[in-house]
Amino acid sequence: MTSLPLVFDSPRPGKPPVHLADLDEPGRRAAVGALGLPGFRADQLSRHYFGRFETDPEQMSDLPAALRDQVRATVLPQLLTEVRTLETDSGTTRKTLWRLHDGALVESVLMRYPDRITVCVSSQAGCGMACPFCATGQGGLTRNLSAAEIVDQVVAAARVSRDRFGGRLSNVVFMGMGEPLANYPRVSTALHRLTDPAPAGLGLSQRALTVSTVGVVPAIGKLAAEGLNVTLAVSLHAPDDELRDNLVPVNTRWKVAEVLAAADAYAARTGRRYSIEYAMIRDVNDHGWRADLLGDLLAPRRAHVNLIPLNPTPGSQWDASPKPVEREFVRRLEARGVPVTVRDTRGREIDGACGQLAAAG
Ligand code: SF4
Repeated sequence: MTSLPLVFDSPRPGKPPVHLADLDEPGRRAAVGALGLPGFRADQLSRHYFGRFETDPEQMSDLPAALRDQVRATVLPQLLTEVRTLETDSGTTRKTLWRLHDGALVESVLMRYPDRITVCVSSQAGCGMACPFCATGQGGLTRNLSAAEIVDQVVAAARVSRDRFGGRLSNVVFMGMGEPLANYPRVSTALHRLTDPAPAGLGLSQRALTVSTVGVVPAIGKLAAEGLNVTLAVSLHAPDDELRDNLVPVNTRWKVAEVLAAADAYAARTGRRYSIEYAMIRDVNDHGWRADLLGDLLAPRRAHVNLIPLNPTPGSQWDASPKPVEREFVRRLEARGVPVTVRDTRGREIDGACGQLAAAG
């Protein structure tokens, strides 16, 4: 089904400029100290950035004008340039394409629901995991994002949530471009920045963050040891190794049983149920016997299944399962006592749903 290789190492190391959001509090004080500024300036900049979502030193009226250029050049460089934003669902879904300092393109999607505001962020430009049904995977990996490039997508979303939606950004899902756990150190730093209490970070609830993975087993172990109670989402897409080897090529490294064992260990450490993401692909992984096998695998575990109607991508041979097939899949899982939800397909009209983020400029 696929001939693309798995790529774990960023082919273009591309060093984005260091930014406040890459640094912990001592690091920020050291950075402003290197400019000959007193430590309180670090807290002041943090309050602007994490508390008011202000990224432009020019707008920081309590920062002496003479310092603003220096600050921009050293600790608050512009990381993301908006190329375009598309809206759908009456403006409650917004997909933004960003250009990074080196021209790499990534996307994030902001979704307002009645009870929450969620942003889906990218953790890599492109993706090296080569899943054949996914638009992002077909483009390969361009490079890892820095922690600040990830955080800055969230800060931009928090600003739009406040200014456009009149609300507070509540949830962050790492389900945009890239495999988050293939960029572990930067994603881990970003998770800390997002959950550190203000002004050190954005002060989001750990439980409101979801990290998805195709099953990079060693990194699931590291995340478990990290002490953050974020939600883990495993993109399984097939319950049997034979199919999964093709559908999710990382399975040739870590098999279904190993991935589930790592997720179980995560659940045991955090006390949190994990989710199994399963894209329903017509005649590929939607058979009744696969639902039974998945149900048998998951019945004894602290897992729920999130079925994702596959989003069509242009020119793709992959198609969504028909609704009756999807209903039968749900029925068989529920018959085994496995909780199931079917994800809504918000953003489909603007290619902003899972597996569709290909960042075409
Ligand atoms: S489905 Fe996820 S892990 Fe697989 S290629 Fe696409 S972005 Fe990467």
